[in-house]
Amino acid sequence: MLKLLKEIFRTGEATVKYPFAPLEVCKDFRGKPEHRAEACIACAACTVACPPNAIRMETDTAAGTRTWSINYGRCIFCGRCEESCPTGAIRLTPDFELAVGSKADLTRKAVFTLEECACCGKPFAPAKEVDYVARLLGQSARSTEEADRLRLTVSTCPDCKRKQDVHQIALMGIDRQMDRELETTP
Ligand code: SF4
Ligand code: SF4
Repeated sequence: MLKLLKEIFRTGEATVKYPFAPLEVCKDFRGKPEHRAEACIACAACTVACPPNAIRMETDTAAGTRTWSINYGRCIFCGRCEESCPTGAIRLTPDFELAVGSKADLTRKAVFTLEECACCGKPFAPAKEVDYVARLLGQSARSTEEADRLRLTVSTCPDCKRKQDVHQIALMGIDRQMDRELETTP
């Protein structure tokens, strides 16, 4: 008996007080991903990186919105969303208490406005993403005019860009044809 008591005193407390006291987790513990909509640009990088499709995006061009959502019931806490996010808008936290009363409470959403194309006015990409790309490109621009031109390019939808390219190629073809005719004219 004395031997047992000695062993108990030597070992100390072998259990933790959780849930009556907070449970301390290790430094790199991967818990609930926390999303900050104010830092998010709705670029969809996390939706591509998320292995179990816990993060999704739905684009509604008629309403001019893109909805980002996370379903904590599907999350496997791998941290790939955090690694892929260019703005640090999603980070894993030490929070592991995810129990909810209703399944719907496991989903969080954020709604973003789509930018309207500078040429045709059709909503095509999240306004915050367009602004982010324009600011990044603007940093490498050599003049304000170049920065404005780059902003106009990123504010143009893919359909309009394609039409502009086709138009430019056609003009180049006409130019070449005229050059050839001038060369052959005696
Ligand atoms: S931690 Fe992994 S599974 Fe969970 S939302 Fe992020 S990428 Fe998806
Ligand atoms: S990767 Fe980051 S910025 Fe892009 S949609 Fe996900 S949380 Fe938002």
